Amino acid sequence: MTFDLTPEQDQLRDAVRALGRRYGHSYFVEKARTGEHTTELWAEAGRLGYLGVNIPTEYGGGGGGITELAIVCEELAAAGCPLLLLVVSPAIAATVLSRHGTEEQRKRHLPGLADGSQKIVFAITEPEAGSNFHRLGTVARRDGDDWVLNGRKCYISGVDEAGHVLVVARTEDSSTGKLKPALFLVPTDAAGLTRSKLDMEILSPENQFLLYLDDVRVPADALLGESLDAGLPALFAGLNPERITVAAMGAGTGRYAIERASEYTATRKVWGGRSIGSHQGVSHPLAHAAVQVELARLMIQKAATLYDAGRDLEAGVSGNMAKYAAGEAAALAVDTAVQVLGGAGMTTEYGVATLLGAVRAGRIAPVSREMILNFVAQHVLGQDKSY
Ligand SMILES: Cc1cc2nc3c(=O)[nH]c(=O)nc-3n(C[C@H](O)[C@H](O)[C@H](O)COP(=O)(O)OP(=O)(O)OC[C@H]3O[C@@H](n4cnc5c(N)ncnc54)[C@H](O)[C@@H]3O)c2cc1C
Repeated sequence: MTFDLTPEQDQLRDAVRALGRRYGHSYFVEKARTGEHTTELWAEAGRLGYLGVNIPTEYGGGGGGITELAIVCEELAAAGCPLLLLVVSPAIAATVLSRHGTEEQRKRHLPGLADGSQKIVFAITEPEAGSNFHRLGTVARRDGDDWVLNGRKCYISGVDEAGHVLVVARTEDSSTGKLKPALFLVPTDAAGLTRSKLDMEILSPENQFLLYLDDVRVPADALLGESLDAGLPALFAGLNPERITVAAMGAGTGRYAIERASEYTATRKVWGGRSIGSHQGVSHPLAHAAVQVELARLMIQKAATLYDAGRDLEAGVSGNMAKYAAGEAAALAVDTAVQVLGGAGMTTEYGVATLLGAVRAGRIAPVSREMILNFVAQHVLGQDKSY
C-alpha cells in the first residue's frame, strides 16, 4: 500500500495547481457574475494536456487514468476554480466514448475532448423520472436508417458550451418489445433540440438547462457503440468516473475554503495580541472540517486506484463513498470557513460565501446523498432495496 503519487502525478498536481492559482477564485467569480464562461482557463488547460489526461494517447490524450483526472479536478477546485464540466466532458463523455464508442466515434470526438476544443455534455435527468432512472421517458425510435428522439431533460450542465450532448434515451428491443437504454450523440444545434436556461442559486460560470427534444432526427451513427447492446454498459461506464471526479472537485473546494479561513484566523486579532484562531471555538471546527476533507481524499484515492486497476465493482462502492464523504466535507468546510471569517465571510472579497450554492448542490448532484446511502445500505450492508 502506498499513499504517494508517482513523480509524474506529483508534477501534474504542481503544474495544475500553478495554472489554477494564476486564474484564481476572483476570475471564476467574475466570469460567473458577467455571465461568461471560463474559456481562457479551459483552453489553456486543454493546450497543456490536462483535459485529456485520461484519454488514450492514440486519440491525443495523456494515456493516464481517473487518478490523473481527479488530480486535475481537485487542484483547480483547490485554487478556487471548481469546473463542473470537467466531470461531464472528460470524465463521463470521454470515458464512455473510449470504452464503448465505435472506432469512428472515438476518432471523431476524442482528440477534440483531449485538447479542449470540443465539449460533450451529458443528459440523463428528466423532470418526471428524477432519481428513478427506470422511469426515463425520452424515447428513440427507428425511422429508416435514422433515429428520431422525443423527450425532455432537466438540469443539463453546459449545453451552451458544447458541440454535442450525450442523450440517454430508451429504445424498443425488437425481440422482447421491452424498452432499454441507449446513448445518442446529438449535435447541440440539431433541428428540434431546444433549450431554456434554468435560474440556479449557484454562483458559477457554468449553466444548467431544460432540454426539449421534439422529433430530433439523427443518423444511425449517432447511436453510441456498435449496437443497442452497448447502451447499458456505456451508461454504467460513466458512473464511477463521474462519482470520483465530482468527489475530487468537492475535496479541492474544501481545501480551498479551509486554506482561506486558516490564513484569516491565524492573523485576525480582536482580543489583544491573540489571534482568533487561538480560540478553540474557532480552530476546532476548522480542524474538524480539515479531518473530514482529508478522509474524503483518502477514499477518492482508493476509488481512483481501484478504478484504474479495472476493479469496477469495488470502485463503485468506494466511488460512491468518496462522493458522499467529499460532498459532506466540502459543504462543512465552506460553511465553517464562512463562520470563522465573521462578517468577512459573507463578502465577495474573501471568496468563501461565493461557494455556498455550489457545495450545497454537491450534496444533491450528480447523485444525491440519499441515493448513495441507499446504494451502501443495499450493496454493502445487505439490506432489502427500499424503493
Ligand atoms: C448543479 C446541477 C447540475 C446538474 N447537472 C446535470 C447534468 O449535467 N446532467 C444531468 O443529466 N443531470 C444533471 N443534474 C441533475 C442531478 O443529477 C439531479 O438533480 C439529481 O440526480 C437528483 O434528481 P432530482 O433533482 O430529480 O431529485 P428527486 O429524484 O426528485 O429527489 C428529491 C429528493 O428526494 C430524495 N430521494 C429521491 N428518491 C429517494 C429514495 N428512493 N430514497 C431516499 N431519498 C430519495 C433525493 O435524494 C432528493 O433529496 C444536475 C443537478 C444540479 C443541481
